[in-house]
Amino acid sequence: MKYDVIVIGGGIAGVTASIYLKRAMKKVLLIESKQIGGEILKADKVENYPALKEVKGYELGLNMSEQLKSLDIEVINELVTSIDGSDNNFIINNKYECKKVIIATGTSSNRLGLLNEDKFIGKGISFCATCDGNFFKGKDVAVIGGGNTALDSAIYLSNIVNKVYLIHRRDEFRGEESKVNIINNKDNIEVLFNTTVKELKGNDFIESIVLNNDQEINVSGVFVCIGHVPNSSIFNGSKDEGKYIITDSNYETSIEGIYAIGDVIVKEVRQLTTAASDGTIAATNILKKL
Ligand SMILES: Cc1cc2nc3c(=O)[nH]c(=O)nc-3n(C[C@H](O)[C@H](O)[C@H](O)COP(=O)(O)OP(=O)(O)OC[C@H]3O[C@@H](n4cnc5c(N)ncnc54)[C@H](O)[C@@H]3O)c2cc1C
Repeated sequence: MKYDVIVIGGGIAGVTASIYLKRAMKKVLLIESKQIGGEILKADKVENYPALKEVKGYELGLNMSEQLKSLDIEVINELVTSIDGSDNNFIINNKYECKKVIIATGTSSNRLGLLNEDKFIGKGISFCATCDGNFFKGKDVAVIGGGNTALDSAIYLSNIVNKVYLIHRRDEFRGEESKVNIINNKDNIEVLFNTTVKELKGNDFIESIVLNNDQEINVSGVFVCIGHVPNSSIFNGSKDEGKYIITDSNYETSIEGIYAIGDVIVKEVRQLTTAASDGTIAATNILKKL
């Protein structure tokens, strides 16, 4: 069977696009390598998604999954490794044929590479200060990294938490001077240069971290801000230096018939609402062409 559209990635961007295409009676296949829901499954609570005052990340993922089922949208659990062919005749993984492709594969956060790290994600470890900062009100936390994201995260958190340890492996920050000045004037941010974290400790939740000099610091949260990598290796068209996919305003890429949406593309704000918006617009534009 030839599909009208194959959507690669079952995060909010891919799920949104699939919903719009299916409701327009198109033959759509959604291919997800792990679990429907994507990165938001890692969030403890989400408090900035309109109409849902507070929702657990996994609940959002579950709701997405149920909505796909209720609309009878076909979902296959498989890692996509190849996209071949050209407009109106694409072949995914050498077996699934379609007219148009939507890449919605998101990003992966760079990890510290420590033992127990996966176990503590959503239980002390966070990759997003603006998303999760509120859950650490009045507590002590660590921010790891030295670029703008780490500096912004430390500044943001310093207004919410009791104390921020800003831990950077080098002896100076890579981020903007203006942000560094703000950090230097904050009483509750302690900068630890030439420092790395070698151990995460705790039972269910993080309770402390051990540094390379063997010092142990009690923290409830660790914000890992050491960069993201887009999951864009399956796409051979135009990307920026960070390998984010470049699209036009219709979300079509440099390869005709291949669209890209959500966190994997070049954009300013990577959030649920913007990813859902990309999915809506891309699907609507594809519908005009089918
Ligand atoms: C801990 C955390 C908390 C967050 N909290 C918030 C918040 O409170 N509010 C907010 O708005 N945003 C939040 N975000 C950001 C939000 O999760 C992202 O903006 C959003 O998930 C992007 O959606 P997406 O569909 O573009 O990508 P993703 O959610 O990353 O989904 C991409 C999907 O594609 C799949 N995939 C990747 N490669 C392949 C492949 N080759 N083949 C098949 N499948 C593939 C992945 O398994 C994944 O399921 C948070 C992020 C994190 C990590």
